[in-house]
Amino acid sequence: MPDVRNCKRCNKIFNYLSGPPICLDCKQQDEDKFKIVKEYLYENPKASVYEVSKELEISVQLIKSFLKEGRLEIIGEDGNMFLECERCGKSISTGRYCESCAREITDDIRSVAGKIKGNPNEPASGGKSGAMRYLHKKW
Ligand SMILES: [Zn+2]
Ligand SMILES: [Zn+2]
Repeated sequence: MPDVRNCKRCNKIFNYLSGPPICLDCKQQDEDKFKIVKEYLYENPKASVYEVSKELEISVQLIKSFLKEGRLEIIGEDGNMFLECERCGKSISTGRYCESCAREITDDIRSVAGKIKGNPNEPASGGKSGAMRYLHKKW
């Protein structure tokens, strides 16, 4: 039986598959916006969240959701206080949790005493607070 829901954005009824509860049209709109943000960041590296939002007329909230999805990352030192860990409230640059919470959550899930891999990708330093860069990930 299909999982039919109302789109959170436009309230249209759609067949829910996975991810955020929004319909394909709205999803496509987000995709288009993401592309614009991506291009803008390519042209304007280190543009801040607010700059991008103002220049492209894209809501800060949507940009934040791209950050939470790990599609964008805030560059610069810790303490930009734009994005916060959903578990401990610490300032983070991408995703939903800070590194230590993410590790604890992962450890909780697989209660196997596996080795924790070191992270060779040190966050880029410098830049304005709240500046972003595009993360090269496949979607
Ligand atoms: Zn919709
Ligand atoms: Zn945390």
